[in-house]
Amino acid sequence: MFDFGRLSSRSPRMVVCPSSALEISALIRESAGGGPADLLARGCGHSSRGESLTSGVSLDLRGLATIHDVTGDCVVVDAGASWREVLKATLPLHRMPPVLTDYLDLTVGGTLSAAGIGGTSHIHGTQAANVIELEAVTREGEIVACSSTSRSDLFDALRSGMGRHGVITKATLRVIEAPERVLSYRAVYTSAAELIAAQGRLVADHISGQVKSSDFELNAVVYDKVDGPPSGLSPVDAEELAFIEFADRLSPDVEKLIELGEWDLPHPWGQVILPADHAAAIIEETMAETTTADLGFGEVVLIKRFRPGPVPMLRAPSDAVLFALLRTASPGCRTVAEMSMANERLYQRASAVGGVTYPPSVVSS
Ligand SMILES: Cc1cc2nc3c(=O)[nH]c(=O)nc-3n(C[C@H](O)[C@H](O)[C@H](O)COP(=O)(O)OP(=O)(O)OC[C@H]3O[C@@H](n4cnc5c(N)ncnc54)[C@H](O)[C@@H]3O)c2cc1C
Repeated sequence: MFDFGRLSSRSPRMVVCPSSALEISALIRESAGGGPADLLARGCGHSSRGESLTSGVSLDLRGLATIHDVTGDCVVVDAGASWREVLKATLPLHRMPPVLTDYLDLTVGGTLSAAGIGGTSHIHGTQAANVIELEAVTREGEIVACSSTSRSDLFDALRSGMGRHGVITKATLRVIEAPERVLSYRAVYTSAAELIAAQGRLVADHISGQVKSSDFELNAVVYDKVDGPPSGLSPVDAEELAFIEFADRLSPDVEKLIELGEWDLPHPWGQVILPADHAAAIIEETMAETTTADLGFGEVVLIKRFRPGPVPMLRAPSDAVLFALLRTASPGCRTVAEMSMANERLYQRASAVGGVTYPPSVVSS
């Protein structure tokens, strides 16, 4: 079995597709046999450093994907539901989760276990910071409901816990008003420092950043408003979109990557969360030694300033910048080993200034 990264593979002793928390509880109690159970949850398997792989029992959560209830304030969903499925259920009621990942085909359990950083995380924090309650099966097989006020130790261990502290089976997520349409403005800066400063200064509903050739591009998106770009922004162009089209903006690119065969190649992604005041220097230093051959044909490099919110396991600075080199080992580019070595250099630089890897590092089982 592989994950999206295709850097390593594992042959699980057994793959189980549970249909209830009770079934997971019984499995854990059975397979523990006196020692710790060797079960690991898996959502879409879209993590890239083997985090969802095990040689024990692989729990495929995609079958546990019911959307139970949508109200004005929250939605209750099974952990194997994707964000696409969540959005499909909430949008007809003009509601949505405050934070969506750029790509919607990731499970709720999978991204809450990482953190879930999106273009609105400068306002709302990570997805993990917007959870009201979780239902989980602990490593001992107990089915427990937890929140910031009840069993908060478990609640804090599960969010950004990468599946190592129990299996999330159900989540109650905050929802807010969803826009009908969005206006997306693009601006270009010549340095990482300018881009990061602009991301911290601008008032916009959704803000993202990318390195494009030697430019630093910013996208500032405003919801349901027509009164011009955010104050202080000098956009080079603007685009109006239906909200669902904007939320699902990666789908056409993904289809193209699948068609080109790039989607199935190894992806040695290097992602770190940096303290905002050190981010520009590390990004500039890293980009100075990064060419197309180091990134692959897609050449995707993301920069997103955000505030993680109260998610202790993420260990991120409070004013943070996600710096993500989404490498693909495309034909004719650097090898997986060379790309992985470049990532190691990035992790060391990040760690020296108090940064962390994203998703959080785990010791593989
Ligand atoms: C194209 C693409 C775009 C992405 N965009 C973003 C983005 O915008 N923002 C962002 O933050 N991340 C993004 N990611 C990374 C992604 O959020 C993480 O890799 C996430 O963990 C993947 O979710 P998944 O359902 O595939 O989980 P998996 O890869 O299956 O699992 C990830 C980890 O979570 C654990 N886990 C899974 N389900 C559960 C559960 N129910 N209970 C307990 N543990 C569980 C697994 O054991 C594993 O450790 C992206 C990844 C890809 C491939």
